[in-house]
Amino acid sequence: MIYKSTRDSSISVTSAQAISMGISSEGGLFVPASMPWLSYNDMKELAEQNYVSRAAYVLSRFLTDYTSTEINDCVSKAYTMEKFETESIAPLYELDPSTYMLELWHGPTCAFKDMALQLLPHLLSYATEKCGNKKTMVILVATSGDTGKAALEGFKDVPGTKIIVFYPKEGVSALQKLQMATQQGENVGVFAIEGNFDAAQSGVKKIFTDEDIKKALDENGMMFTSANSINWGRLVPQIVYYISAYADLIKNGRVSCGEFINVVVPTGNFGNILAAYYAKKMGIPIGRLICASNANNVLTDFIMTGKYDKNRQFYTTISPSMDILISSNLERLLYDLSGCDDAKIRSYMDSLAKEGKYTVDDSIKNSIGEYFWAGYCDDNMTRQTIKDIYNKYAYVCDPHTAVAVNVLEQYRVKTNDMSKTIIASTASPFKFAGDVLESIKGEKSSGSEQEQINELAELQMTTPPKQISDLFELPVRFTQSCAKNELKDVVFKALGI
Ligand SMILES: *Cc1c(COP(=O)(O)O)cnc(C)c1O
Repeated sequence: MIYKSTRDSSISVTSAQAISMGISSEGGLFVPASMPWLSYNDMKELAEQNYVSRAAYVLSRFLTDYTSTEINDCVSKAYTMEKFETESIAPLYELDPSTYMLELWHGPTCAFKDMALQLLPHLLSYATEKCGNKKTMVILVATSGDTGKAALEGFKDVPGTKIIVFYPKEGVSALQKLQMATQQGENVGVFAIEGNFDAAQSGVKKIFTDEDIKKALDENGMMFTSANSINWGRLVPQIVYYISAYADLIKNGRVSCGEFINVVVPTGNFGNILAAYYAKKMGIPIGRLICASNANNVLTDFIMTGKYDKNRQFYTTISPSMDILISSNLERLLYDLSGCDDAKIRSYMDSLAKEGKYTVDDSIKNSIGEYFWAGYCDDNMTRQTIKDIYNKYAYVCDPHTAVAVNVLEQYRVKTNDMSKTIIASTASPFKFAGDVLESIKGEKSSGSEQEQINELAELQMTTPPKQISDLFELPVRFTQSCAKNELKDVVFKALGI
């Protein structure tokens, strides 16, 4: 399988190159030149397998320059019972016979980013080896919350890697801060940056592109690499769980092989729903892809009108991982729907960079309308949905998942399409215990973070996930903060240069 760049179709690389480079040199994103096809027979066979085998099979169809031994090694290290607390890794929970929660948050950090970030470090290790690289990879991450912790857990103690995470001092939740401050592992570093997320992100970007720093790293046998969500190595593991969910529906007799289902995904960067689109293109019978946004509804407007416009008010919501106005992965969809028209993609992305907006042509707009439907939901509706779902099903969902549930209801009311539907559930409710409790009880809880977590557990007649309750027992290792202009020194010191 060859990978092309969305901004220059003449570029073609192997999957190992795509994964180790992260982004193409002219700024494009790597996409597979063709889509592997799954027959009904393949799906029936997958239905009989466990998650690790399903993942190995799907990866082998995309990462054709990896040996099967390498792929097996990667998936069996990533998706263990120990790390995901359940053998099914990404279990389906049946709300009612036509509505299924795909729980993607049983991993070490209780959010769906673990699904990709547990695997990526292993894919990356083999990729750099294949590309003839002997250097230590240094991963720098600026995080607004979930990504940083998931990356730390994924790269912790992976040979040949070091990871440094910067989070904004103002801007991550108390629990997210605690998750990062107690991070274990010998190859990790965590720093708070004074300022907001933009300050952290622009500071890290500057380090990435600083020639002096690059040179210093090179002389010390190291190089920078990126683990952010545009890396193909983060997208391909996400395709797996949609295929696995359909295989589970077959296995449990909930669908007959070939029966169409819908998928609804709470998204910001368009990564998770793009993976579902790829699963559909591979032959999984998905009817409609429903894109769910919070008040930052730039994607809703785009899917409904064909006009992308990020020049709008930015809202801070109770589903913070979707507070995004630039959906980077959309570029991959547009490339596909334009029939790989790299010139067109360049012009859209130029316009986005210069004016913050672009309008796609009618043919792309019509294709989007065939595949997708979109809706959004503000914080009040999100809270109400958390409460309704709890009352109706005794099921507690996190605010991101609730956005998807709400948009699915809107879709069903508007279209009368009652097909069986998979809801991508992206975080454990325990990660957002305060907001979830408040939604269900109708009043703010006055307790500490830990008390709120315990109260939520009582409500569900369960115990909090160990990954979260353990945090309060672990020693705090990282308390350092720095100013934006000290980043360079901090990085050198952390790397021992
Ligand atoms: C990152 C994240 C999302 C959004 O994912 P996309 O990559 O933007 O699709 C949704 N929910 C949670 C909990 C997240 O951490």
